Order: sequence, then C-alpha cells, then structure tokens
Amino acid sequence: MPDSLIAVDIGGTSVRVAIAPVDDLRALAKLKQDTAKTDPMAVSRQVIAMIEDLLKKQGVGTEELSAISIATAGPIDAAKGEVFNNANLGFKVIPLKAPISERFPSVPVYIINDCRSAVLGVHCFEAKGDEKDNVGYITISTGIGGGFVVNGHLVLGKEGNASEVGHGVVAPRSGVRCNCGAEGCWEAFCSGWSVAKHARAALDARPGQGKALLDLVKGDKETITAKDVYEAARKGDEVAKGVVDQATFYNAIGIGLINNFYDPKVIFLGGSMLKDEQQILPPLQEIFAKRTIEFTINHPPRLAKTALGDDVGLLGALALGKYKLENNTVVSTFK
Ligand SMILES: [Zn+2]
Repeated sequence: MPDSLIAVDIGGTSVRVAIAPVDDLRALAKLKQDTAKTDPMAVSRQVIAMIEDLLKKQGVGTEELSAISIATAGPIDAAKGEVFNNANLGFKVIPLKAPISERFPSVPVYIINDCRSAVLGVHCFEAKGDEKDNVGYITISTGIGGGFVVNGHLVLGKEGNASEVGHGVVAPRSGVRCNCGAEGCWEAFCSGWSVAKHARAALDARPGQGKALLDLVKGDKETITAKDVYEAARKGDEVAKGVVDQATFYNAIGIGLINNFYDPKVIFLGGSMLKDEQQILPPLQEIFAKRTIEFTINHPPRLAKTALGDDVGLLGALALGKYKLENNTVVSTFK
C-alpha cells in the first residue's frame, strides 16, 4: 500500500526535496541543493537524483510512493508540465513532468506554481476552521507572489498562473520600472531588490542625509540590501524610514486590492522580507484596523506571518499530494 509522498520546491537559488508519510506530513525528511542551470533538462535530472537519494536514505521503495508534487517558480504550463519564461531558471522552457514521470512511471506527478503550493501549506497547517474556505498567502521576497483558496477552491486560472499579484500595477506612470518590463508593479516598490533600489535613489536625491544607512554599508551605496534599509530605519534614519514607509503604503495598496478581489478571511505573509516582521506586519495590521476604507471597501482579513518559514512551499506540495489522494474539493480545480 503506497503511503509516502514526495514534495519538491524549485526556486531560482535552490531545489528542495522532501519525503513524508501520508498520515504525518510534518514528519518530513529533506534535502537541499543549489539549482542546476547548465541546460534546460538540468533541473529535472537534479530532482530525479535528489528523489533517488532521499528514497535510498529513508529506505523507501518507489512502489511505496503515492505522489510526487512539484512546486516551482513560474510561470508554468500546467497541461504540459513545464516552466516557461522564468528569468531566474535561465531557459525559455524547462520540462519537468515528462522526464520525472518517465523515471517514476507508476507515480502520479503534479506540477504547481510555488505560491499556489504555499497557500495549500497554510491551508493545511495554519488556517483555523472557519478560515479554511477563504485563505490567502503572499510571499514578499526577491519578488512578490500569491496563492488563494476562494470559496473552498484553489484558484489556478487557465494554465495555473492565477494570482500573480506582485505584477499588479499599483502606481501607473510612476516611472518605476519592474523587472518584468511593466511600470509601477507592487513588486517594484516592496520586494527585496526594489527596496534597495529605492534607497539608493533616495540617497542620491538627498545628499548629506541617510548617515545611519550609509554607515551600515561603509559608504558603499551599491551594496545596500533591503535588510540594511530596514535596519537603518529601525535606528531612525530618515532616508531609510521614507523607503520603508513607501513599502508599507504599497503593501497596503496591494493587500487592499486583493481583499477587494478575493475577500479572504485570512492572509498569511511569508518570504525573506518577513524576517523583518516587526516593521512590516504591525504597520499593515494597524492600517487595516484604523484606515480600512482608504485601502479596501471590504471587511479586512486577518493578517499573520506564516510559521512554516522556508518550508511553506514544500509542506504545501505535500498537502497537494495528500489532498489529491483524499479527493479533497480544495484541489478539485487541479488536474
Ligand atoms: Zn512587474
């Protein structure tokens, strides 16, 4: 009787693979490696090798696997089981489902965008009873992405790429260019790279100011990271505070739009920027408690930081395998 699940989480920096028993997803064993980028098939070869390694280490046979669920940075073509046009993975098309199914022909292989996987993680492990039908997940990291369960169903769209909230335009004609090529995306104000970029521009615009921020990087503006900006803001640096306040404002705009569109009961936030939780979450909670109508017409959701950390995508992929096995209606949209 198959009773184990494999989860894979593919990002621009690392690939993570986990195995867990169906009846205790938290009892997972995992491996992590830097993402292979030598050719378009490198990632699938790497994933296969990591799965084989993990099966061997755990003494689990292929016949004991119920599913292999692969969460990946997108965009994805769910029907073909491929990633396409991903700037960080390096190739126009990266096949995943075909080569992995070829190696494990008896095991169902599922491909899902990593943020849609993450929302299944918070759905399974964190959302409370009456929150489960309308739950969101937003990552604020190198980029910004989202996943949503609305009315008890995972929102996927025609190819599995619904909820690309980070490229929602929050400031048209602002002259602020996003990595995607559009102007004024949410991600172009609040993601890691953009906070650092805005801080450099603010220092250029206000010569002689921003001493605490410049001290942190020994005067070298080019090395500023979002972490430096948040640390300097905490120390009272006015230039850094301006950039952090701007990020808070656009995070509220983005979350307000999501609340207007999806009306979630709870939104969990994750991603590397949330390591500075105190300067991101409480200001947003205060805005939605006291200035709701400036940002959304609907009742605001509960906002919380996910406790699942870097495992949120992996745990979500495990939840996907379990939900498919149980015919859970949350993933009835998922083919
Ligand atoms: Zn964009």
